[in-house]
Amino acid sequence: MRGGLREMAMGKLARLVKVKVRRTSKAAKEQKPSRTEAENAVRTLIRWAGDNPRREGLISTPARVARAYEEWFSGYDEDPKEYLSRTFEEISGYDEMVLLRDISFESHCEHHLAPIIGRVHVGYLPRNRVVGISKLARLVDVYAKRLQIQEKMTAEIAACVDSVLKPLGVAVVIEAAHQCMTTRGVHKSDVTMVTSRMLGVFRKNAVTRQEFLSAIGRLRSGAQ
Ligand SMILES: [Zn+2]
Repeated sequence: MRGGLREMAMGKLARLVKVKVRRTSKAAKEQKPSRTEAENAVRTLIRWAGDNPRREGLISTPARVARAYEEWFSGYDEDPKEYLSRTFEEISGYDEMVLLRDISFESHCEHHLAPIIGRVHVGYLPRNRVVGISKLARLVDVYAKRLQIQEKMTAEIAACVDSVLKPLGVAVVIEAAHQCMTTRGVHKSDVTMVTSRMLGVFRKNAVTRQEFLSAIGRLRSGAQ
């Protein structure tokens, strides 16, 4: 009897330890609610808005919103570095800037869950390897499909390109409209926010930086 109890206690302890280990290693996954819980949360928000989630037009809305969230926030399940892992080293002495401009993106602000819609420009000066340009666009999507603030997203994209490609420099500029500002709060519909992150030669060398800025149209001709 006593042995049985002790075994039970040990079993419980083992389970506790296991749970604790799992919690610390996969904290986010562990806390992920079920689809039913997510749908119920949407019902609560519909009621908070003042409507009835049981009326006909809204009956399937919680399920749709849960599916939309899977699409809007698919970036949590992806490793951005993987998109840059296949690089090309035969660049035949190419030592000029590589620039992908006007990469459109949709993200959501982490303060209001409101859409952020805009464009990203990514440039880098290769040291000895380049990456397929579509991969840069994919990389932007991975970060965009998470809850974001624009400043963080700008820095994350630059840091990822820098750490994987190890170029001579990286430049990232994001221009975006924040619907938490355009549709509520201060209601400024024409405002866009511009953020930039310059690393390596783009930070140190004004000429290289200006070449990038004029290529993306952020410098008027003749401007310093
Ligand atoms: Zn916001």
